[in-house]
Amino acid sequence: MSTRPTIPAVLRIDVEPDEHQPKARSEWPGFAGMVAHVEAMRSRLSDLSGCGVHPSWFVRFDPDIERCFGRADFVVQQHRDLFDSLRQRGDALGIHVHAHRWDASQAVTFSDYADQNWTMHSLISRKCRLSAGALTVSGTLRTKCPRNVRAR
Ligand SMILES: [Zn+2]
Repeated sequence: MSTRPTIPAVLRIDVEPDEHQPKARSEWPGFAGMVAHVEAMRSRLSDLSGCGVHPSWFVRFDPDIERCFGRADFVVQQHRDLFDSLRQRGDALGIHVHAHRWDASQAVTFSDYADQNWTMHSLISRKCRLSAGALTVSGTLRTKCPRNVRAR
């Protein structure tokens, strides 16, 4: 029996487009690659640590994703099977936002933290509906999402 103390570890993975400024819809192959990488390591890490390995996956969910991909939950719809698999393994799903704002005159995206209204818009404006089979979040982030997370 080991006398070494347990060292807690958090493995947080942000799920984002492969490009900083995506110009066309892609299938976010980096995410699929990361899922495959985690699956390849999961049992070995579990064997070495003696603990279950359950990363937390934070999906990018903001106006710039909606602008680029047509919907904020694009990656969840695109990779529903992967999200279902992650949930079946007991991984946690969450969201994160960027305050990225499109400047049409310069054709660039920039982080706009100077405009508090934009930051709030990025956080609360859209309906969030992460429907990954096992998880549905509905309502707006401000009023309902934290309370309405439920397993199907
Ligand atoms: Zn991010």
